[in-house]
This record gives sequence, C-alpha cells and structure tokens, in this order.
Amino acid sequence: MTPCILVDSHCHLDFPDFDADREALIGRANAAGVGIMVSICTQVINRARVLAIAENFACVFASIGTHPLNAADEDEVPVADLVRLAAHPKVVAIGEAGLDFHYDRAPHDRQERVFRRHIAAARETRLPLVIHARDADADVERILVDETGKGAFPFVLHCFTAGQRLASVGVELGGYVSFSGIVAFKNSADLRAVAASVPLDRILVETDAPYLAPPPNRGKRNEPAFVRDTAEALAGALGLDFDTFARQTTDNFFRLCRKVPDPRVGGPT
Ligand SMILES: [Zn+2]
Ligand SMILES: [Zn+2]
Repeated sequence: MTPCILVDSHCHLDFPDFDADREALIGRANAAGVGIMVSICTQVINRARVLAIAENFACVFASIGTHPLNAADEDEVPVADLVRLAAHPKVVAIGEAGLDFHYDRAPHDRQERVFRRHIAAARETRLPLVIHARDADADVERILVDETGKGAFPFVLHCFTAGQRLASVGVELGGYVSFSGIVAFKNSADLRAVAASVPLDRILVETDAPYLAPPPNRGKRNEPAFVRDTAEALAGALGLDFDTFARQTTDNFFRLCRKVPDPRVGGPT
C-alpha cells in the first residue's frame, strides 16, 4: 500500500502543464509519501477533465466549482447543479470559489454571487468549501460571518496569504487554513507568524501546483511531491519535528474531507 504521510490538499492536475508526465508525477508524489491529492476544479464546464484524472487514479480526488477569476464567464451555475455534481463518488469538496480582487478579471458583485452559491452548496452537501481569497480580506470576512450566521458549513482558506485577522476569523468560524509553498519563501516571515497563530489541528498543506513551488524548486513548475518541502519548512518554523507535523496535517485533512477514505486506517502506514 502507498504510504500516506502527507496529503496535497490542493493541486490542479488537469492543467496542460502536466500533460506530458501526469502519471509519472503522481508516482513521484506517492514515492514521496504523498498518498492523496485533491485536484481542484476551476470551472464547472471543465469538470470532465478533472474527473477523468480522479477516476483514473485511486489516490486522486476532485472538487467541483468556479474560481473567482472565472466568475465572469460562469456565473449562472445554480446551487442545485453544484450539489448534484458533488454526488460523484470522487468529488470530495466544493470550489475553489471565493474573491480575487488582485486581478481585474471579474466584477466583484459577480464574484460574490458565485461565492455565496458555493457556500450554499457546501452547507447542503457538508463537503468542505475550498476558499480562494486574494486581496479581499474584509469582504471575505463579511461574507463568511454573514453566511455562517445562516448555518455552518465546513471550509478551508486555501493558499493562505491574507492577513492575521482573516486567519483568526476563519478559525473562529470553524474553518481550516491551508499553506502553500509561499510559507517556505525566505521573505514570508509574516506568513509564518500567522501560521504559528493557527491551532495545529486546523492547519493543512498544499502545493497549488503547477504554481508556487517551494524552495529548492522555487520558480520551477510545482508538483504534488513538493508538498513535502513545504511541510518540512513549516514544521521547522513551528518548532515541530516533521513526522509529528505531517501526521497532524494529514489527520486534519481527513477530519475536514470526510468523503476521502483514510488509507492509513486498517493497515500499516
Ligand atoms: Zn486559489
Ligand atoms: Zn488553486
């Protein structure tokens, strides 16, 4: 059995960056102890190619949703469709959805409408919502507080780069915070300080591959195996040994992402 020391909770295995060596890089991830990968959907219309990979590889799962930067092209997917598509056995999360005010690609009101629909789908399915939040801390906080007031839903603030306040609010509302290779960059001391403030049982790690490779591969194409470098760097920053930190983040993943069977249960790890 493939060991599951770590999980890559967020990558984009359907992207053309991986067309030439997808199977090999999934093998490299497994060899590095990355036993599960969640390949994240960025446009519902592209779900077939995300799902095809998840159907092909036992260790790959998928999400369903519209990235905020695609909200201008895809703002009419009803909650009922998201809920129906999420019933696929390998769809284990909703999203990624949220707000991205860094690029001017989709009007803010449309992003918010799409984000709120994904929240409704997460609430109904009980699948975690993968939240993309960039340069929109105050608005993400406003929406999370408002929507949580209507009924709790599981969520993770993915590739966290926002401020301390949003991390604290997210944790207070029951959410998880996921760190990518950015947390391992030399100039990310502020982000490591935020990570130190998040309770250990709410931290996830991810690659967001093909983007944001951690050192020593910074600037190159990222791949799920490299989540190990991020976990090692973050464990060090938190003063923890790697094994303890890896086990903790993997436990956290399976607690949040209940639809993914934990391969560590019932066998040696
Ligand atoms: Zn994202
Ligand atoms: Zn992503």
